[in-house]
Amino acid sequence: MEAESQHSRAASGVDAPRRIIDPFDREITYLRVSVTDRCDFRCVYCMSEDMTFLPKADLLTLEELDRMCSAFVAKGVRKLRFTGGEPLVRRNIMWLFRQLGRHIESGALDDLTLTTNGSQLGKYADELAACGVRRVNVSLDTLDAKKFTRITRWGRFDQVMDGIRAARAAGLAVKINCVALKGVNDEEIHDLVRWCGDEGHDLTFIEVMPMGEIGGEMRLDQYWPLSMVRAELQRRWTLTDIDYRTGGPARYVECAETGGKIGFITPLTHNFCESCNRVRLTCTGTLYMCLGQEDAADLRAPLRTSEDNGLLNEAIDEAIGRKPEGHDFIIDRRHDKPGVGRHMSVTGG
Ligand code: SAM
Ligand code: SF4
Repeated sequence: MEAESQHSRAASGVDAPRRIIDPFDREITYLRVSVTDRCDFRCVYCMSEDMTFLPKADLLTLEELDRMCSAFVAKGVRKLRFTGGEPLVRRNIMWLFRQLGRHIESGALDDLTLTTNGSQLGKYADELAACGVRRVNVSLDTLDAKKFTRITRWGRFDQVMDGIRAARAAGLAVKINCVALKGVNDEEIHDLVRWCGDEGHDLTFIEVMPMGEIGGEMRLDQYWPLSMVRAELQRRWTLTDIDYRTGGPARYVECAETGGKIGFITPLTHNFCESCNRVRLTCTGTLYMCLGQEDAADLRAPLRTSEDNGLLNEAIDEAIGRKPEGHDFIIDRRHDKPGVGRHMSVTGG
């Protein structure tokens, strides 16, 4: 079996398995890739309505993204997640999924997945499944069509619901990501738990994070600590902590009444860094070693300098060698300034 998997690894252009270990003895197995900073929505907590996007020439081409992701897989990354911006609005993105699907086939990669707003799933769900994608995270903060428009500004609720149905019909598991927003969707969290339970989707609540200037509504007003979300849920549901971990910031409970898992991502109120297994690549080839720190490494220059991966591999090793022990988020209560200046759509959350 092992020989077979080594053989197919060679066939996929990925050599013998290796491991990436950072200075704090954490194994890096998970690469999140923002494939575009553009989006067909303008969610109020993520973007301003008049965002300026990167010139297309600055972006890694799809061929370069394939080479970059494959270099990480060769080094020991076992899970790839595409995000954005909205990953499914990047032109010809299915080509990249098809290319990287070879690593799923060879066994070099365990998981090829994406985080999406769901708007394009109706179009692409079948093709994603054919590329080896088994599950998707869909961001959905409300089940109320009017509120959905208020939150996403440009989103169409029915299109997203159709997309979620198409994903399930294609055999993809769906996890719903819901940003908990005080005064916006606080009255709906029970309905979301019920709906996810009925539909068989797992559900994760995300605390709103201080990232990027978004204008308009102030983030401190929206901030709703997940400890309070959980307390509210417990008034109606029986929640039991479970030991399910993904190496990320989510902590999970099981809901006895629905049988579903509910996750809580609490970057502001919890320290989750000791088990961090991930790094993030932007669409311009910048590698962020930590979501909550500014330090980053440029991988585009070494990628473009030569056709073999020697320089790129050196740059990856050097960057991982600088991965910090932990993050440093703060919501500055006096100035209401974001703790980290870049938008979530740069690193994809
Ligand atoms: N467009 C895709 C989507 O919405 O799923 C992928 C990119 S989006 C930046 C990834 C996730 O980040 C989404 O679940 C979104 O709700 C979340 N997000 C965006 N801005 C956020 C913020 N300021 N605080 C917390 N989560 C945020
Ligand atoms: Fe687009 Fe996702 Fe940001 Fe909403 S959260 S604006 S869908 S990138």
